[in-house]
Amino acid sequence: MNAWVSAPATIQNVGSGEIFTPAQIKHFRHNLLAWYEAHARDLPWRRMRDPYAIWVSEIMLQQTRVNAVLDHYARFMARFPTVQKLAEAEEPEVLAIWSGLGYYRRARMMHRAARVISNELKGHLPRTAAGLRRLPGIGAYTSAAIASIAFGDPVAVVDGNVERVVLRVRPRNSGIQAVAQVLLDPMRPGDFNQAMMELGATVCLPRNPLCLHCPVQKLCNTRGEHPVAPRKESVRKRVGHALVRRGERVLLEQRAQDASLMAGMWELPQLDGTLPGPERLLFTISHSITVTNYSVDIFRLRADEVHLLPEGGRRKWISVDDLAEIPLTGLARKVLKRLQVFKPPVSGGPLQR
Ligand code: SF4
Repeated sequence: MNAWVSAPATIQNVGSGEIFTPAQIKHFRHNLLAWYEAHARDLPWRRMRDPYAIWVSEIMLQQTRVNAVLDHYARFMARFPTVQKLAEAEEPEVLAIWSGLGYYRRARMMHRAARVISNELKGHLPRTAAGLRRLPGIGAYTSAAIASIAFGDPVAVVDGNVERVVLRVRPRNSGIQAVAQVLLDPMRPGDFNQAMMELGATVCLPRNPLCLHCPVQKLCNTRGEHPVAPRKESVRKRVGHALVRRGERVLLEQRAQDASLMAGMWELPQLDGTLPGPERLLFTISHSITVTNYSVDIFRLRADEVHLLPEGGRRKWISVDDLAEIPLTGLARKVLKRLQVFKPPVSGGPLQR
């Protein structure tokens, strides 16, 4: 029998009749925070309370794994160490540093918000979740994370990881946000929120939760038996791109400004139905964007064969030395890195020109 079931009813009602006792809540907070202190991963944005740095990390971590964020975070902070520096930058510069992280709308909105903070808020981020939510690109999750971690605002964060923990822990159906809010430790909201996210990311895993290592196991209602939502079906597609070089320059094509994905970013010229012969095929590479898995054929064309490319599209010859300054799509970066044409700047230091 777990601690929820054996405990006497009453005390904390959540939504439509959820019941926690103060002892259960105290136990949950204590165990979770003790576990977090012992097991938290040492991540750069956890070593400080700078609201700007926390904001950058939280935006980067949306739908992106920690390991993929670390290098980008270091480079971004080296280039734009303050909200003022970010506000002063031009958008292509911001997208270039963001390149490879995907979901570029995040970078555009963050840049826009930095300008609002700089121009209208004297360079200071709002100190509450409610105030932060008024900024472009900051929703319920991000505002709660920044406000609780940087300013101690007692608002529960509910991201995908926290949602899973709450779904499994709660004794009966009730609002996830409401349950998370009741469990939140108001004395240490930032640590508590990070602990919940960490628990979901490292222990309460979607398919095989490590319940034996879980600090709140005794209070968990399901111990991992809660069904997980089925994954979206993935789609397969095959596309072709051309690598065209002229000495130390490479031909790139800009995506339309109204494209639904990666608008305005630069990529290798797309090929339509008529592909060059197989003798021109350099390699095929796999690339995933949301639920679509692409097989991408990369063909080499000579500089005097650009007329073979489909009409339309804004194209430009870019020096290989300037590639780090261009907002490249993730696929273009991947291909150019594989060909050793593009070398990303060293993490944590200034951009190598
Ligand atoms: S006991 Fe298992 S299912 Fe429950 S919260 Fe812990 S890891 Fe998740």
